[in-house]
Amino acid sequence: LNASVGEIFFTSSATEANNMMLKNAVQDLGIRHIITSPTEHHCVLHSLDYLARNTSCTIDYLTVSPQGKIDMHQLEEKISKADQKTLVSIMFGNNEIGTMHDIQKIGELCRKHQVLFHCDAVQVLGNYPVDVQSLGVHFLSGSAHKFHGPKGIGLAYISSDTMLTPFIHGGAQERNMRAGTENVAGIAGLATALDWSVAKMAENHRHILEIKHAFIEALKHKITGVDFNGSEDATTLAHILSVSFPPHPAGDLLVMNLDIAGISASSGSACSSGIETDSHVLQAIGHDSRRRTIRFSFSPFTSLEEIAFASEKIAALVT
Ligand code: PLP
Repeated sequence: LNASVGEIFFTSSATEANNMMLKNAVQDLGIRHIITSPTEHHCVLHSLDYLARNTSCTIDYLTVSPQGKIDMHQLEEKISKADQKTLVSIMFGNNEIGTMHDIQKIGELCRKHQVLFHCDAVQVLGNYPVDVQSLGVHFLSGSAHKFHGPKGIGLAYISSDTMLTPFIHGGAQERNMRAGTENVAGIAGLATALDWSVAKMAENHRHILEIKHAFIEALKHKITGVDFNGSEDATTLAHILSVSFPPHPAGDLLVMNLDIAGISASSGSACSSGIETDSHVLQAIGHDSRRRTIRFSFSPFTSLEEIAFASEKIAALVT
Protein backbone atom coordinates (compact mmCIF):
# COMPACT_ATOMS: atom_id res chain seq x y z
CA LEU A 1 0.00 0.00 0.00
CA ASN A 2 3.06 2.21 0.32
CA ALA A 3 1.92 3.12 3.85
CA SER A 4 4.19 3.07 6.87
CA VAL A 5 3.55 0.46 9.57
CA GLY A 6 2.32 3.14 11.95
CA GLU A 7 -0.46 4.13 9.56
CA ILE A 8 -2.23 0.73 9.40
CA PHE A 9 -4.79 -0.31 12.03
CA PHE A 10 -6.60 -3.64 12.02
CA THR A 11 -10.32 -3.58 12.69
CA SER A 12 -13.12 -6.15 12.80
CA SER A 13 -14.30 -5.14 9.32
CA ALA A 14 -14.23 -2.38 6.76
CA THR A 15 -17.56 -1.31 8.23
CA GLU A 16 -15.80 -0.56 11.50
CA ALA A 17 -12.85 1.11 9.73
CA ASN A 18 -15.16 3.44 7.77
CA ASN A 19 -17.30 4.26 10.82
CA MET A 20 -14.19 5.04 12.84
CA MET A 21 -12.45 7.20 10.26
CA LEU A 22 -15.51 9.26 9.28
CA LYS A 23 -16.81 9.83 12.80
CA ASN A 24 -13.39 10.59 14.25
CA ALA A 25 -12.49 12.93 11.40
CA VAL A 26 -15.47 15.02 12.48
CA GLN A 27 -14.71 14.68 16.19
CA ASP A 28 -10.92 15.13 16.07
CA LEU A 29 -10.15 17.16 12.98
CA GLY A 30 -13.03 19.63 12.99
CA ILE A 31 -14.57 18.43 9.72
CA ARG A 32 -17.93 20.22 9.26
CA HIS A 33 -18.72 19.43 5.64
CA ILE A 34 -18.55 16.05 3.89
CA ILE A 35 -18.95 15.61 0.14
CA THR A 36 -19.91 12.11 -0.95
CA SER A 37 -21.85 10.16 -3.55
CA PRO A 38 -25.25 8.46 -3.16
CA THR A 39 -23.79 5.13 -4.31
CA GLU A 40 -21.42 4.58 -1.37
CA HIS A 41 -21.75 1.43 0.74
CA HIS A 42 -24.29 1.65 3.57
CA CYS A 43 -21.51 1.62 6.16
CA VAL A 44 -20.44 5.01 4.78
CA LEU A 45 -23.91 6.42 4.04
CA HIS A 46 -25.38 5.39 7.39
CA SER A 47 -22.34 6.77 9.25
CA LEU A 48 -22.86 10.06 7.41
CA ASP A 49 -26.60 10.03 8.26
CA TYR A 50 -25.58 9.59 11.88
CA LEU A 51 -23.17 12.54 11.65
CA ALA A 52 -25.84 14.71 10.02
CA ARG A 53 -28.28 13.91 12.84
CA ASN A 54 -25.89 14.17 15.76
CA THR A 55 -23.27 16.79 14.88
CA SER A 56 -23.13 20.13 13.09
CA CYS A 57 -21.57 18.47 10.06
CA THR A 58 -23.45 18.83 6.75
CA ILE A 59 -23.44 16.09 4.14
CA ASP A 60 -23.35 17.14 0.53
CA TYR A 61 -24.30 14.55 -2.12
CA LEU A 62 -22.96 14.59 -5.65
CA THR A 63 -25.17 13.46 -8.51
CA VAL A 64 -24.14 10.38 -10.45
CA SER A 65 -24.54 9.53 -14.13
CA PRO A 66 -26.58 6.51 -15.31
CA GLN A 67 -23.26 4.62 -15.22
CA GLY A 68 -22.74 5.64 -11.59
CA LYS A 69 -19.91 8.11 -12.29
CA ILE A 70 -19.52 11.31 -10.34
CA ASP A 71 -19.10 14.62 -12.15
CA MET A 72 -15.59 15.94 -11.44
CA HIS A 73 -16.66 19.53 -12.25
CA GLN A 74 -19.48 19.34 -9.73
CA LEU A 75 -17.02 17.95 -7.16
CA GLU A 76 -14.52 20.74 -7.78
CA GLU A 77 -17.27 23.35 -7.61
CA LYS A 78 -18.49 22.01 -4.27
CA ILE A 79 -14.96 21.80 -2.88
CA SER A 80 -14.01 25.30 -3.99
CA LYS A 81 -17.22 26.85 -2.63
CA ALA A 82 -16.83 25.14 0.77
CA ASP A 83 -16.36 27.59 3.60
CA GLN A 84 -15.98 24.97 6.33
CA LYS A 85 -13.39 22.29 6.93
CA THR A 86 -14.22 19.66 4.31
CA LEU A 87 -13.69 15.96 3.71
CA VAL A 88 -14.46 14.09 0.50
CA SER A 89 -15.57 10.47 0.85
CA ILE A 90 -15.68 8.56 -2.43
CA MET A 91 -15.36 4.81 -2.87
CA PHE A 92 -12.77 3.30 -5.23
CA GLY A 93 -15.10 0.77 -6.86
CA ASN A 94 -18.80 0.17 -6.36
CA ASN A 95 -19.83 -3.19 -4.91
CA GLU A 96 -23.13 -3.42 -6.79
CA ILE A 97 -22.49 -2.08 -10.28
CA GLY A 98 -18.68 -2.12 -10.36
CA THR A 99 -18.21 1.54 -11.36
CA MET A 100 -14.73 2.77 -10.48
CA HIS A 101 -14.02 6.39 -9.65
CA ASP A 102 -10.82 8.16 -10.67
CA ILE A 103 -9.32 8.21 -7.19
CA GLN A 104 -6.02 9.60 -8.45
CA LYS A 105 -7.79 12.65 -9.92
CA ILE A 106 -10.01 13.12 -6.87
CA GLY A 107 -6.86 12.94 -4.70
CA GLU A 108 -5.22 15.65 -6.84
CA LEU A 109 -8.30 17.85 -6.52
CA CYS A 110 -8.39 17.38 -2.75
CA ARG A 111 -4.69 18.23 -2.48
CA LYS A 112 -5.12 21.33 -4.66
CA HIS A 113 -7.90 22.64 -2.41
CA GLN A 114 -6.41 21.26 0.81
CA VAL A 115 -9.40 19.16 1.80
CA LEU A 116 -9.21 15.69 3.34
CA PHE A 117 -9.97 12.54 1.36
CA HIS A 118 -11.46 9.25 2.59
CA CYS A 119 -11.70 6.31 0.20
CA ASP A 120 -13.54 3.01 0.74
CA ALA A 121 -11.24 0.69 -1.23
CA VAL A 122 -12.90 -2.57 -0.15
CA GLN A 123 -13.67 -3.81 -3.67
CA VAL A 124 -10.33 -2.75 -5.07
CA LEU A 125 -7.75 -3.83 -2.52
CA GLY A 126 -6.19 -7.10 -3.67
CA ASN A 127 -7.67 -6.74 -7.16
CA TYR A 128 -5.94 -3.57 -8.39
CA PRO A 129 -2.79 -1.75 -7.28
CA VAL A 130 -3.38 0.65 -4.38
CA ASP A 131 -0.67 3.16 -3.45
CA VAL A 132 -1.86 5.53 -0.75
CA GLN A 133 0.93 8.05 -1.45
CA SER A 134 0.29 8.48 -5.14
CA LEU A 135 -3.50 8.44 -4.63
CA GLY A 136 -3.22 11.24 -2.08
CA VAL A 137 -5.75 9.69 0.30
CA HIS A 138 -5.77 10.51 4.01
CA PHE A 139 -8.03 7.59 4.98
CA LEU A 140 -8.61 4.27 3.23
CA SER A 141 -10.37 1.04 4.19
CA GLY A 142 -10.07 -2.59 3.12
CA SER A 143 -11.55 -5.96 4.08
CA ALA A 144 -9.83 -9.37 3.95
CA HIS A 145 -12.80 -11.42 2.78
CA LYS A 146 -12.92 -9.51 -0.50
CA PHE A 147 -9.55 -10.99 -1.52
CA HIS A 148 -9.97 -14.52 -0.16
CA GLY A 149 -8.80 -13.76 3.36
CA PRO A 150 -10.86 -14.65 6.44
CA LYS A 151 -14.13 -12.94 7.33
CA GLY A 152 -14.15 -10.58 10.30
CA ILE A 153 -10.93 -8.64 9.69
CA GLY A 154 -10.49 -5.28 8.02
CA LEU A 155 -7.97 -2.47 7.95
CA ALA A 156 -7.88 1.28 8.21
CA TYR A 157 -5.10 3.32 6.67
CA ILE A 158 -4.82 6.64 8.47
CA SER A 159 -2.18 9.03 7.17
CA SER A 160 0.31 10.14 9.82
CA ASP A 161 -0.58 13.78 8.96
CA THR A 162 -4.22 13.25 9.96
CA MET A 163 -3.93 10.85 12.90
CA LEU A 164 -7.12 10.30 14.90
CA THR A 165 -7.82 9.52 18.54
CA PRO A 166 -8.98 6.05 19.66
CA PHE A 167 -12.46 4.97 18.64
CA ILE A 168 -12.59 1.99 20.99
CA HIS A 169 -11.24 2.62 24.48
CA GLY A 170 -9.51 0.11 26.74
CA GLY A 171 -6.08 -1.49 26.45
CA ALA A 172 -3.10 -0.32 24.44
CA GLN A 173 -3.55 -2.61 21.44
CA GLU A 174 -2.98 -1.27 17.93
CA ARG A 175 -0.71 1.46 19.34
CA ASN A 176 -3.53 2.68 21.60
CA MET A 177 -5.84 3.24 18.64
CA ARG A 178 -8.16 0.27 18.92
CA ALA A 179 -8.41 -1.43 22.27
CA GLY A 180 -9.26 -5.13 22.52
CA THR A 181 -7.15 -8.21 22.02
CA GLU A 182 -6.07 -8.38 18.40
CA ASN A 183 -7.52 -10.99 16.05
CA VAL A 184 -4.07 -12.44 15.34
CA ALA A 185 -5.27 -15.29 13.14
CA GLY A 186 -7.41 -12.85 11.14
CA ILE A 187 -4.57 -10.36 10.73
CA ALA A 188 -2.16 -13.09 9.60
CA GLY A 189 -4.82 -14.39 7.20
CA LEU A 190 -5.42 -10.91 5.80
CA ALA A 191 -1.68 -10.39 5.25
CA THR A 192 -1.21 -13.78 3.58
CA ALA A 193 -4.24 -13.30 1.33
CA LEU A 194 -3.12 -9.79 0.35
CA ASP A 195 0.42 -11.01 -0.42
CA TRP A 196 -1.04 -13.76 -2.60
CA SER A 197 -3.49 -11.40 -4.36
CA VAL A 198 -0.80 -8.83 -5.10
CA ALA A 199 1.66 -11.48 -6.38
CA LYS A 200 -1.02 -13.01 -8.65
CA MET A 201 -2.78 -9.76 -9.56
CA ALA A 202 -2.06 -9.70 -13.31
CA GLU A 203 -2.78 -13.42 -13.77
CA ASN A 204 -5.97 -13.26 -11.69
CA HIS A 205 -7.15 -10.15 -13.56
CA ARG A 206 -6.72 -11.84 -16.96
CA HIS A 207 -8.62 -14.92 -15.78
CA ILE A 208 -11.46 -12.91 -14.28
CA LEU A 209 -11.86 -10.81 -17.44
CA GLU A 210 -11.98 -13.95 -19.59
CA ILE A 211 -14.69 -15.40 -17.34
CA LYS A 212 -16.65 -12.15 -17.30
CA HIS A 213 -16.60 -11.71 -21.07
CA ALA A 214 -17.67 -15.33 -21.60
CA PHE A 215 -20.58 -14.77 -19.20
CA ILE A 216 -21.64 -11.50 -20.88
CA GLU A 217 -21.56 -13.13 -24.32
CA ALA A 218 -23.53 -16.17 -23.12
CA LEU A 219 -26.21 -13.99 -21.51
CA LYS A 220 -26.49 -11.71 -24.56
CA HIS A 221 -26.82 -14.77 -26.79
CA LYS A 222 -29.45 -16.52 -24.67
CA ILE A 223 -31.58 -13.70 -23.24
CA THR A 224 -33.28 -11.08 -25.40
CA GLY A 225 -33.26 -7.63 -23.81
CA VAL A 226 -30.63 -8.42 -21.18
CA ASP A 227 -28.65 -5.36 -20.14
CA PHE A 228 -25.75 -4.49 -17.85
CA ASN A 229 -25.61 -1.72 -15.25
CA GLY A 230 -22.49 0.41 -14.97
CA SER A 231 -20.22 0.76 -17.98
CA GLU A 232 -18.70 -2.09 -19.94
CA ASP A 233 -15.22 -0.55 -20.12
CA ALA A 234 -12.10 -0.84 -17.99
CA THR A 235 -13.45 1.69 -15.48
CA THR A 236 -15.73 -1.05 -14.17
CA LEU A 237 -14.38 -3.56 -11.66
CA ALA A 238 -13.47 -6.72 -13.56
CA HIS A 239 -14.90 -9.05 -10.93
CA ILE A 240 -18.38 -7.52 -10.75
CA LEU A 241 -21.20 -7.77 -13.25
CA SER A 242 -24.57 -6.21 -12.58
CA VAL A 243 -27.10 -7.80 -14.91
CA SER A 244 -30.44 -6.15 -15.58
CA PHE A 245 -33.09 -8.61 -16.78
CA PRO A 246 -36.21 -7.57 -18.67
CA PRO A 247 -39.44 -7.75 -16.65
CA HIS A 248 -40.47 -11.40 -16.14
CA PRO A 249 -42.98 -13.09 -13.79
CA ALA A 250 -40.14 -15.15 -12.26
CA GLY A 251 -38.00 -12.04 -11.70
CA ASP A 252 -38.69 -11.62 -7.99
CA LEU A 253 -37.73 -15.22 -7.22
CA LEU A 254 -34.62 -15.22 -9.36
CA VAL A 255 -32.01 -15.04 -6.60
CA MET A 256 -33.78 -17.77 -4.62
CA ASN A 257 -34.04 -20.02 -7.66
CA LEU A 258 -30.40 -19.44 -8.52
CA ASP A 259 -29.51 -20.35 -4.95
CA ILE A 260 -31.48 -23.60 -5.26
CA ALA A 261 -29.53 -24.32 -8.46
CA GLY A 262 -26.27 -23.82 -6.52
CA ILE A 263 -25.45 -20.41 -8.01
CA SER A 264 -24.53 -17.72 -5.49
CA ALA A 265 -25.41 -14.23 -6.62
CA SER A 266 -26.93 -11.24 -4.92
CA SER A 267 -29.96 -9.19 -5.73
CA GLY A 268 -29.63 -5.48 -6.23
CA SER A 269 -32.85 -4.95 -4.41
CA ALA A 270 -34.16 -4.78 -0.91
CA CYS A 271 -37.39 -6.42 0.09
CA SER A 272 -39.56 -4.13 2.18
CA SER A 273 -43.06 -5.28 3.16
CA GLY A 274 -42.95 -7.99 0.52
CA ILE A 275 -42.36 -5.49 -2.29
CA GLU A 276 -39.03 -5.62 -4.05
CA THR A 277 -37.52 -2.18 -4.46
CA ASP A 278 -34.29 -1.29 -6.21
CA SER A 279 -31.27 -0.77 -3.95
CA HIS A 280 -30.07 2.76 -3.18
CA VAL A 281 -27.38 2.35 -5.85
CA LEU A 282 -29.83 1.30 -8.57
CA GLN A 283 -32.16 4.15 -7.59
CA ALA A 284 -29.28 6.63 -7.78
CA ILE A 285 -28.43 5.62 -11.36
CA GLY A 286 -32.10 5.77 -12.39
CA HIS A 287 -32.48 2.03 -13.05
CA ASP A 288 -35.89 0.99 -14.43
CA SER A 289 -37.46 -0.65 -11.38
CA ARG A 290 -39.64 -2.97 -13.51
CA ARG A 291 -36.47 -4.82 -14.49
CA ARG A 292 -34.69 -7.19 -12.08
CA THR A 293 -31.02 -6.71 -11.31
CA ILE A 294 -28.74 -9.49 -10.10
CA ARG A 295 -25.13 -8.88 -9.16
CA PHE A 296 -22.70 -11.65 -10.13
CA SER A 297 -19.09 -11.70 -9.05
CA PHE A 298 -16.14 -13.69 -10.30
CA SER A 299 -12.92 -14.83 -8.67
CA PRO A 300 -9.67 -16.44 -9.79
CA PHE A 301 -11.36 -19.72 -8.82
CA THR A 302 -14.43 -19.33 -11.05
CA SER A 303 -14.24 -21.64 -14.08
CA LEU A 304 -15.61 -21.38 -17.62
CA GLU A 305 -17.66 -24.54 -16.91
CA GLU A 306 -19.35 -22.79 -13.98
CA ILE A 307 -20.10 -19.79 -16.19
CA ALA A 308 -21.63 -22.02 -18.87
CA PHE A 309 -23.74 -23.83 -16.24
CA ALA A 310 -24.88 -20.56 -14.66
CA SER A 311 -25.84 -18.92 -17.96
CA GLU A 312 -27.90 -22.01 -18.97
CA LYS A 313 -29.78 -22.00 -15.66
CA ILE A 314 -30.38 -18.26 -15.74
CA ALA A 315 -31.69 -18.36 -19.30
CA ALA A 316 -34.04 -21.22 -18.39
CA LEU A 317 -35.40 -19.16 -15.48
CA VAL A 318 -36.00 -15.86 -17.26
CA THR A 319 -37.01 -16.75 -20.82
N1 PLP B 1 -17.54 -1.16 1.47
C1 PLP B 1 -17.78 -1.89 0.37
C2 PLP B 1 -17.63 -1.25 -0.97
C3 PLP B 1 -18.16 -3.24 0.47
O1 PLP B 1 -18.41 -3.94 -0.64
C4 PLP B 1 -18.28 -3.80 1.75
C5 PLP B 1 -18.71 -5.20 1.92
O2 PLP B 1 -19.48 -5.76 1.22
C6 PLP B 1 -18.01 -3.01 2.87
C7 PLP B 1 -17.64 -1.70 2.69
C8 PLP B 1 -18.10 -3.56 4.25
O3 PLP B 1 -17.04 -4.45 4.49
P1 PLP B 1 -17.09 -5.46 5.71
O4 PLP B 1 -17.87 -6.64 5.22
O5 PLP B 1 -15.65 -5.81 5.99
O6 PLP B 1 -17.73 -4.77 6.83
